Amino acid sequence: MNQHPFPPPSAALEARLADIRRRMQAACLAAGRAPAGCRLLAVSKTRGAAEIAALTALGVRDFGENYVAEAMPKIGALATGGGPAPAWHLIGPLQSNKTREVAGHFDWVHSLDRERIARRLNDQRPDHLPPLNVCLQVNIDGEDSKSGLAPEAVPELARVVLDLPRLRLRGLMTIPRPGQAGPGNAYERLALALQSLAGTIAGPDAAGPDTLSMGMSDDFELAIAHGATWVRIGTALFGPRNS
Ligand SMILES: *Cc1c(COP(=O)(O)O)cnc(C)c1O
Repeated sequence: MNQHPFPPPSAALEARLADIRRRMQAACLAAGRAPAGCRLLAVSKTRGAAEIAALTALGVRDFGENYVAEAMPKIGALATGGGPAPAWHLIGPLQSNKTREVAGHFDWVHSLDRERIARRLNDQRPDHLPPLNVCLQVNIDGEDSKSGLAPEAVPELARVVLDLPRLRLRGLMTIPRPGQAGPGNAYERLALALQSLAGTIAGPDAAGPDTLSMGMSDDFELAIAHGATWVRIGTALFGPRNS
């Protein structure tokens, strides 16, 4: 018998997921990329454990959360819910008093932009878990309102992370100014920043950092055209958030 305590996915959720998968695949093929090279990160902020569980039943494995305090009860509920265990990604700003929970319960941090946080995550990552995957967040449009490193500051923090054995440097993440299009757009610039990073550091992996976390509901096809390997999608998948 099915022990899963969560209700099955709604037809609407299933249809939105199918539509996103189809659009991701089309964008990859249009860019001459293998569809497997770009993965869906379902952004589940404000969404309950039941909706997350419904998506895991449809084969979605990766979930992005912005706030540690909001994520922890969901992580607990999904771990004991009887379905497949998700991988959890932190995509929001991280304060030092929350690093222990992140080191103990998350698989990825996309929003690393400070050495102090990197060192705490490294020190607090439990030995029984693999190294924590990290992306450095880049403030690609130089906006005052956004966190993230200036592009010039990326190599310095990257070198710090490479020396921390319990962290694994995977690549770069950005939240650009909305309305990107055309030559020189933020996604193209983040891809160039990753190329130059990969060219200047010798990572422990043969491949070096190769992750580009970029693109959201409104513009993920443009991000895929420029090499996104994770697209972070909330509203197009779950529907509008009530704030
Ligand atoms: C909320 C959020 C998303 C998802 O945004 P949508 O427009 O709902 O797809 C992606 N990335 C980050 C960092 C976010 O905070």
